Amino acid sequence: MRLQVLGTAAGGGVPQWNCACPGCSGARAHPGRRRRHASLAVQLADGAYVVNATPDIADQIESCAFLRPGPGPRESPLKGVILTDAELDHTIGLLRLREAAALEVRSTPVVRQALRPFADLLHGYVKLSWADADTIPVSGKRPRYAAGSPEAPGWVSALRLGPLVYAPAMGVWPDELDEAFLRAACVIVDGTFWDDEEPRRTGISTRTATQMGHLPIEATMERLSRLPGRRLYTHLNNTNPLVDPAAEQHKALAELGIEVAADGMVIDL
Ligand SMILES: [Zn+2]
Repeated sequence: MRLQVLGTAAGGGVPQWNCACPGCSGARAHPGRRRRHASLAVQLADGAYVVNATPDIADQIESCAFLRPGPGPRESPLKGVILTDAELDHTIGLLRLREAAALEVRSTPVVRQALRPFADLLHGYVKLSWADADTIPVSGKRPRYAAGSPEAPGWVSALRLGPLVYAPAMGVWPDELDEAFLRAACVIVDGTFWDDEEPRRTGISTRTATQMGHLPIEATMERLSRLPGRRLYTHLNNTNPLVDPAAEQHKALAELGIEVAADGMVIDL
């Protein structure tokens, strides 16, 4: 299975349009540090899919050789979108795909329910079909726009995609996830924050990383290092020291044999 990393940033991207933090300012000064919203393109047995539909999705599709349209004038190899959750930075790209003739969306039932307004908007443009994704629940955190919806285990999931497990948001590390990780040839997981206090220390939130639904890297890297397959962090927030290529934290991960995913990376599994 071939996959391409289409983006590696948490919500807002790096740089975020309204942010002058060191990470965002550094990315403005050094375009090589820019990161699009976290996403993957995957070639599955039945076609090509994008994992999460970000605000950057059109540019991300353009950046991926196996998603190039053709040979007909309006033919695309993109069969659909697989969602880890219903957060806006993972779903508003669905609206950007309104030119598609048909699109399959795979998610949990609760995410599908939350996205009813999207389905209503796209009705008349795209023939949407829905299917279940192969998921492991990793957080019950609802998007803010769905605060009135019932709590449920399917709000945030890790995805099993053949030999890959993709978990860009991970509030917990349950046994079921551990079993999937142990069997995977590659895991790409939540690297939103380096440490639990980072969101409070940098002033972007009154909550810790864990309270925001993200296990920090400091809490997962030792355990991750013991897995047999290839291991990468993604979904970096712009406050994460790893957005600076010179940060010493890169060495700590390299010593554990863990990579930081980069936009454009192609992985064959
Ligand atoms: Zn910033």
